[in-house]
Amino acid sequence: MDIHVQGLTKLIKKQSVLSNVSLSFSGVYGLLGPNGAGKTTLMKVLASLTGFSAGNVYIDKELINTKRFVRRTGLIGYLPQDFMVYPELTMYEVLEHVAVLQGQKSPTSYHAQIKEVAEQVNLSNHLQKKMRELSGGMRRRAGIALLLLRKPEILLFDEPTAGLDIEERIRFRNLLKQLGSRHTVIISSHIVEDIEFLCTKIGVIRNGKVLFEGSPEELKEKAAHCTYEIDVPHAELDGVIAAKEVVQMNEESSHIVVRVLSDQMIGRPVSPRLMDGYLALLKGASYG
Ligand code: ADP
Ligand code: MG
Repeated sequence: MDIHVQGLTKLIKKQSVLSNVSLSFSGVYGLLGPNGAGKTTLMKVLASLTGFSAGNVYIDKELINTKRFVRRTGLIGYLPQDFMVYPELTMYEVLEHVAVLQGQKSPTSYHAQIKEVAEQVNLSNHLQKKMRELSGGMRRRAGIALLLLRKPEILLFDEPTAGLDIEERIRFRNLLKQLGSRHTVIISSHIVEDIEFLCTKIGVIRNGKVLFEGSPEELKEKAAHCTYEIDVPHAELDGVIAAKEVVQMNEESSHIVVRVLSDQMIGRPVSPRLMDGYLALLKGASYG
């Protein structure tokens, strides 16, 4: 299922937090933007947790907003950035609670479903743990299990990997990828690496405005012919950092390989990665 927003504008205290945002979400979609860009606000609008000032939201071309609010729809599941519910209940109890709230009356039927969603998020062995005993990554996976019980078509994840350790990040990424085969998945992040190799389509917003929407390849293209690597002796590193648009650094035994964006030929030209394209987009066309 595709979700499409058109001319979406949201004012908070007369400031526009989203201005005239038009985006078409499909596949596994990465919503990138620096802090304060409006990512969380956009997700909350889609999840019908907040209203908006103007614009339209469509699912598969059908208008789903009324009176500046997305019509509450079971099609959309939203995992907030700081997900936490009932710390003293076990994960099983939380899932059971949700199943019952949904009107499920047969324990045999919901027990089977709880087992199934716990397996999907790889937490079958932790169902009897209290929510507060789960690690950050496990808790977020429990949150996904909770969403899956409601069988949504579209899943929204707001900064899902923020604050997770590397192992959990990788596990989470694989889970998001798997979910992408059955659901439309929208992942917001301010960190390019979190969505690299994962998303089939990317949107970039800043200050509530759309800067880009397209394929990962198209975003990389933004840094075509301006991405270089230079070998820099340790002693000269500070000078290079001060003078150039540095994207990344890798330490070698005798020097540091510095990746830069530059208008002028410098060092070795290299093919741009997603991070280069994203930074080139944010900086505009010109580098020193
Ligand atoms: P992101 O998730 O991309 O970091 P947010 O959607 O959280 O961005 O916020 C976008 C902008 O809207 C920020 O400048 C933030 O300060 C502002 N904002 C969000 N919610 C409120 C609110 N309830 N009251 C005032 N300003 C808000
Ligand atoms: Mg946010």
